[in-house]
Amino acid sequence: MSHADILAASGLSKSDTTGGTLAVRTPVDGSEIARLKVHGAAEADAMIARAHGAFLAWRKVPAPRRGEFVRLLGEELRRQKQALGALVTLECGKILQEGLGEVQEMIDICDFAVGLSRQLYGLTIASERPGHAMRETWHPMGVCGVITAFNFPVAPWCWNAALALVCGDPVIWKPSEKTPLTALAVQKICEKVRAGFGDDAPEGLTQVLIGDRELGEALTANPKVAIVSATGSVPMGRAVAADMSKRLGRTILELGGNNAMIVAPSADLEMALRAIVFSAVGTAGQRCTSLRRLIVQEDVYDALMPRLIKAYEGLPIGDPLAGGTLVGPLIDSQAMVAMDAALETAKSQGGSVHGGGRALADSHPAAAYVRPAIVEMPSQSSIMHRETFAPILYVVKYRALDDAIAMQNAVPQGLSSCIFSTDVRETEHFLSAAGSDCGIANVNIGPSGAEIGGAFGGEKETGGGRESGSDAWKGYMRRQTNTINYSRELPLAQGIRFDI
Ligand code: NAD
Repeated sequence: MSHADILAASGLSKSDTTGGTLAVRTPVDGSEIARLKVHGAAEADAMIARAHGAFLAWRKVPAPRRGEFVRLLGEELRRQKQALGALVTLECGKILQEGLGEVQEMIDICDFAVGLSRQLYGLTIASERPGHAMRETWHPMGVCGVITAFNFPVAPWCWNAALALVCGDPVIWKPSEKTPLTALAVQKICEKVRAGFGDDAPEGLTQVLIGDRELGEALTANPKVAIVSATGSVPMGRAVAADMSKRLGRTILELGGNNAMIVAPSADLEMALRAIVFSAVGTAGQRCTSLRRLIVQEDVYDALMPRLIKAYEGLPIGDPLAGGTLVGPLIDSQAMVAMDAALETAKSQGGSVHGGGRALADSHPAAAYVRPAIVEMPSQSSIMHRETFAPILYVVKYRALDDAIAMQNAVPQGLSSCIFSTDVRETEHFLSAAGSDCGIANVNIGPSGAEIGGAFGGEKETGGGRESGSDAWKGYMRRQTNTINYSRELPLAQGIRFDI
């Protein structure tokens, strides 16, 4: 399929993709595939006002009916999975299987949210006063702004939007300026669903803002946006948190990771090897949950490392739309420069590099294909404390498990982590309060590729937000405590007497 065919199959017309100033390039070959019109500050404010109008209506629609909207969205995504998956691949460069996987995540979270729409449970609470009842209820919160990163162009929008919509909140999406086409295609799907839904789905229920960080700032600045859920780098999260704190707005922050795997002496090395390769080179190392640090017990180091280096040498690097490719391109040449710089720094800190460097330069001169790199490090030096968004896997040895856990936890980020071990004492210790300090901690499975049923997010510089499954829905609603007096007296709490 040509690039133009992929755009057309996802419902984008010529007028959607031409005539603007924002150039969209595909990392597949570096060519320009669209020029989009960008929104200005006044248009952003008008959209926010429209979303707020939608909120006043949508909050009164019964939650199961709101769930029906999300059910229909999931159905439409099922129908358009192939086309949208291919567009994800074209726009961000992840292999087609992963592009399709992202759309599947959207479908899964829609299914989850439909069930949730009948389970937005509150509590009944025992009152200390006779003839009184207490309860806790959950109400729609307001407009939810969703800011997303280039590497997962569609799934994180849906983790937020599917929940926000059943919770009664309209959604304004500010996608990455590097991947706005997928957002436009999804907005078309939403509009199709809305057109068939009936009058109770108001105009402005879902909207898309095209542009760079200034449009994100339009969301954080406007008090009519009750929640801003932002996915991206740590510097972006700091800026969003600072802006939102000025007006004490609610944030859900999903920021960078620096994820580790501990390989213990009892590990099944065959399984560990597969998990390492997938989680370190999948999406060309551009997942927030990519494996970046491998902490290997010294007794199994020599058994593991030659096999890992050999597996890297045989990795199929190439066009992410072609079958058989496992490693696609980086998003752009800046990412390639950052990877080279990190490898140079690692060398200067004593690292021994296997792989790395540019790939497919002759056939794809305008794209950023690289060979994934393994770097054996003498210790966890400063370069390993940083997230470089590229396929670099640093490897260090450990002797005692507590040292490995301390090393794992020593970085500023706290997203995902895992241990490969068949010793239950080790695995339970890793999952205990004295173990991993990350939001995600896995056993005998890599750090990337979370399921939507669990709450997703991480601690420390990762931002502390939770999205997707479990009780993440509470982040999109406001909690209200109610005390109801059905007696003929007016007793005060704590036995206070106040006679008039
Ligand atoms: P980025 O921070 O450059 O941009 C992310 C989004 O934030 C873009 O839409 C951008 O326009 C917007 N933005 C930037 N500055 C802003 C500001 N001051 N106010 C409002 N919006 C602003 O990130 P990126 O390069 O697109 O993505 C890679 C990063 O995202 C990595 O650090 C990765 O770990 C992280 N990420 C985290 C998760 C997670 O769930 N924790 C998921 C995916 C990506």
